[in-house]
Amino acid sequence: MDPAQLADASRLRTRATVLHADADSFFAAVEQRDKPSLRGRPVLVGGTGPRGVVSTASYEARRAGARSAMSMSRARRLSPAAAVLFPRFEAYSAYSRLIMATLATLSELVEPLSIDEAFVDLEAGPFADDPARAATEVRARIREVTGLAVSIGIGRTKLVAKLASDAGKPDGLLVVEPADEDDFLLPLPVRAVPGIGPATAAALERLDVRTVADLRRQPLDILTMTVGESSGVNLFRLARGIDPRPVAPSTERKSVGAERTFAQDIFGADLIAAAVDRVTDEALRRLTAHGGGARTVVAKVRFADFTTLTRSVTLAQPTAEPAELRAAAHQAARAAGINDSVRLLGVSFHNLSPHAQLTLPWDDDEPAPAAAVDDVPDVPLALGLLTEENARPGLDVEHDTLGRGWVVHVRGRQATVRFESVDTPPARSQVVDLATDPLLLVPPLTPTLDA
Ligand SMILES: [Mg+2]
Repeated sequence: MDPAQLADASRLRTRATVLHADADSFFAAVEQRDKPSLRGRPVLVGGTGPRGVVSTASYEARRAGARSAMSMSRARRLSPAAAVLFPRFEAYSAYSRLIMATLATLSELVEPLSIDEAFVDLEAGPFADDPARAATEVRARIREVTGLAVSIGIGRTKLVAKLASDAGKPDGLLVVEPADEDDFLLPLPVRAVPGIGPATAAALERLDVRTVADLRRQPLDILTMTVGESSGVNLFRLARGIDPRPVAPSTERKSVGAERTFAQDIFGADLIAAAVDRVTDEALRRLTAHGGGARTVVAKVRFADFTTLTRSVTLAQPTAEPAELRAAAHQAARAAGINDSVRLLGVSFHNLSPHAQLTLPWDDDEPAPAAAVDDVPDVPLALGLLTEENARPGLDVEHDTLGRGWVVHVRGRQATVRFESVDTPPARSQVVDLATDPLLLVPPLTPTLDA
């Protein structure tokens, strides 16, 4: 490939009109919003069981060293005062819809990247000439409607917009004009660049490449030799701020997948595992083409006697991480029982979501630890009476006279609850005897656009 051609930026837009919006510690911020006693306090949202993983840490918990993707037990040790809460996806989705709807007032072209992150192409809306005003107004509007802080970055490319919103966090706004792009990009550590994971960063470090400026000094052939052809080409271009990816809203689809009927039935754990890998590769390729991620992975196994079994694994949240989805595919296939001869294997992804973590095509990041599947129900929690069995910290409950609140914990018949919600003052925890004072599990109260 010709380096001069790769470095040609003439096809890039000339104005900073790509906007990236990203809510600050989204799940934890929603919890602090809905639970007044937690405002200003450390909060960890994630799996609450023994193998639980942190989905989001509030800024207070981050100051103590807690991070997302860290094991919950480690995060708890670092931030012992933190409230540990089970995720309430219903609430997060409702807040997400409001954020996305508000962003949609800026442009027809909105590309959600995750539940709380989106790119907006301001060229396709009324603010092409005044991106900073678009950002100021939309941030104010989102805060008014949801009470949440959203950081915004604006640049000429997705790369710069995303890095700018990161740089502005928390509650920041940063516009990087094309003329200032080098001043912004060159000092950044390469690790800050989305798509450069620990493995690539380590390989680059062996070349003494630590910043984007160091990266720009590397010849194309050195980069492709170090990290492979396609990653090398991408790094070469990224180092020059060249990122021609358009803002592309993805279309809705229910599932994507692949299946394969074998010419001869296959038998044996190793052969079947290899076949699961091959079918998963094809399914992943289709998922990547579709864009976004998935939360549920279904394996379908047809045996030599034509009986067919399907099993699913549902993750704590949608992901586009190939390793995570592959692990779930193997888990589902094992659950379907693969001790007999297999005639057909299928792997499909469901609960598709544009709300997957940002995974760029050249992403080689090591995956976050898999969600503790046994910790997360496969179906939404059935609403009903609160019991010790169905209690999870953070869930919404309602009492006849005490009103709405949330579960702190339940031991036997004793439920500890804080009776508070978004508009009430902070409440102290209160112990309720479930035998005499039943509590009803209820869906989250969520704000609406008209509120
Ligand atoms: Mg965020």
